[in-house]
Amino acid sequence: MVMKLVLLGPPGAGKGTQAQEISRRLNIPHISTGDMFRAAVAAGTPLGLQAKAFMDAGKLVPDEVTIGIVRERLQAEDCAPGFLLDGFPRTLPQAQALDGILAERGIELDAVLDLEVPREELLKRLTGRRVCKSCGATFHLLFNPPRDRDRCDHCGGKLIQRDDDREETVSRRLDVYEEQTAPLVEYYRRQGKLKTINGNQDIPRVLEAIGEALGENWR
Ligand code: ADP
Ligand code: AMP
Repeated sequence: MVMKLVLLGPPGAGKGTQAQEISRRLNIPHISTGDMFRAAVAAGTPLGLQAKAFMDAGKLVPDEVTIGIVRERLQAEDCAPGFLLDGFPRTLPQAQALDGILAERGIELDAVLDLEVPREELLKRLTGRRVCKSCGATFHLLFNPPRDRDRCDHCGGKLIQRDDDREETVSRRLDVYEEQTAPLVEYYRRQGKLKTINGNQDIPRVLEAIGEALGENWR
């Protein structure tokens, strides 16, 4: 069965890392609003210019902008059978808008996977994260090290630290998560869609836990 999924969890919980594998196995597009904003910033589009100041400050991009890009992305043909949202929704209005967008088409989410990781672990993960400038692959200097410190294992691209992974911004982003995004856990629990995943274990074990949560839909 094809699935419509959301990956929830604080910055650094491992959403992007797990999303790559889930998307490959279930053959559904991985939709990361963070990646979409970073691409827009790199391309210097009006959307990028608008988003950059919020991202650099560790704040959320305004709801109407974010909802707009997701609405448009979900209209693409590749999303018809299913999709994996990563980093969206992040506020209650975004979650309600998503329910509305899906309801217009007579569909709904199948499950929301909530990756739980303690704050001190998140700080270590975010400050050691390195991403490939070319293909976007994610590494960690200690926990998931690339073969060569500066080069991507997959495409040989340059590995960089994200601007918002500097220590001062990281702590701000975790606070923003607690204030604005954590309430979504209760929102989806009430809808009966929440699957809580222990994200504080090594990468293959987290994937295994996700597989167990998805049950017969996993392959
Ligand atoms: P998110 O997309 O939720 O912000 P990422 O997937 O980018 O998080 O992971 C954050 C950092 O932690 C990355 O450097 C990644 O390599 C590392 N990481 C991801 N999952 C784990 C894990 N289970 N154990 C240790 N490090 C992890
Ligand atoms: P991420 O890559 O998911 O950590 O997102 C990086 C940054 O992009 C966030 O800190 C926000 O500034 C912005 N962003 C990503 N997704 C959203 C969203 N759903 N709502 C608002 N801002 C977002």
